[in-house]
Amino acid sequence: MPGTITVWEKDPALVGRFTTAPIPDVAKLPLAFNFPAARPYSSDKTTEDFRYWNAASTLRRAADFWAASSTPPAEWNGMAVLDVYLDRDVALQSKYDGQSLSFYHGSPVGHPEVVVYSGASPDLLCHELGHAILDALRPDLFDRGFLETDAFHESFGDMSAILCAMQLPTFCAAVLQETAGRNFWSDSSLSRVAQQFGAALRMEDPKQADVACLRNAWNNHLYKDPAGLNNTGSATEVAANPHSFSRVFTGAFFEILAGMLAIRVGNKAAKPEDLQQVSCDMRDILVDALGDAPFGEHFYETVAAAMVRASLGPGSGRGPAVQTLFQNVFVRRKIIAPAIV
Ligand SMILES: [Zn+2]
Repeated sequence: MPGTITVWEKDPALVGRFTTAPIPDVAKLPLAFNFPAARPYSSDKTTEDFRYWNAASTLRRAADFWAASSTPPAEWNGMAVLDVYLDRDVALQSKYDGQSLSFYHGSPVGHPEVVVYSGASPDLLCHELGHAILDALRPDLFDRGFLETDAFHESFGDMSAILCAMQLPTFCAAVLQETAGRNFWSDSSLSRVAQQFGAALRMEDPKQADVACLRNAWNNHLYKDPAGLNNTGSATEVAANPHSFSRVFTGAFFEILAGMLAIRVGNKAAKPEDLQQVSCDMRDILVDALGDAPFGEHFYETVAAAMVRASLGPGSGRGPAVQTLFQNVFVRRKIIAPAIV
């Protein structure tokens, strides 16, 4: 084994975006993993050996990020060690089932030449890990069959993908370069979650993914009463299913994240460490709010109001200006009413 390894920063579709990482200790507590037997390292991105170390490094980094939060989970929901299956079967899928993380490989119908490994994408690894983290923090929210709690679970997965990517200084620097001269609240490799997987799903059915990725956190979707929505719809409209409806909350989150960065840096240029700091501040506001948001059918409004309350402080990156930002975005998105907080 070399002393360090090379892994994808965020998604295999971002060709050329690698970073160097230490050899991960997947068995480290808290939030340990049980992986299949370790494989020899390979820097060849097409191999199972590379995918093993890419996944081990990404999940370790992501779990450490959440373990460092202001209200960290002591362990996974009901267990100290989480099983990880890197190539469980043939499917275009990845999932958390309450016991383990599972990743698959598959091809879009009619395109056998395209083979996608969901476990190769840090976005999907960190999305599924997000489900496991939320389940550890709030076991009462998992798989309840209510649209808003199920959709919040999906949104938390995408928020986890975005926040975990922001732990990499190399990726933060690349995103700042990519968004230089325009609003950070814009379409970027940070906002686009799971580009490679999304492209494969779109080959099968364009309804299943946003235009340039699986789901784009840069969107302008507003909350609508789910009772008036269809269960399925085109990618450009919100439907009453958890993945589609999650984009309303993730969209508000990403808009607020950009606003937090603007408040932090003022009229100075943002640096990679500014991105990393606002990601930690947002993480802590999220987990603190989860301790103040009782389960209910209208969970979006409940958790958003708790985030508005938490954003006042005390805590890093909080205060009246940040609270006003949270309030304004959630109101504009129609997730909370103007007078709710
Ligand atoms: Zn999910």
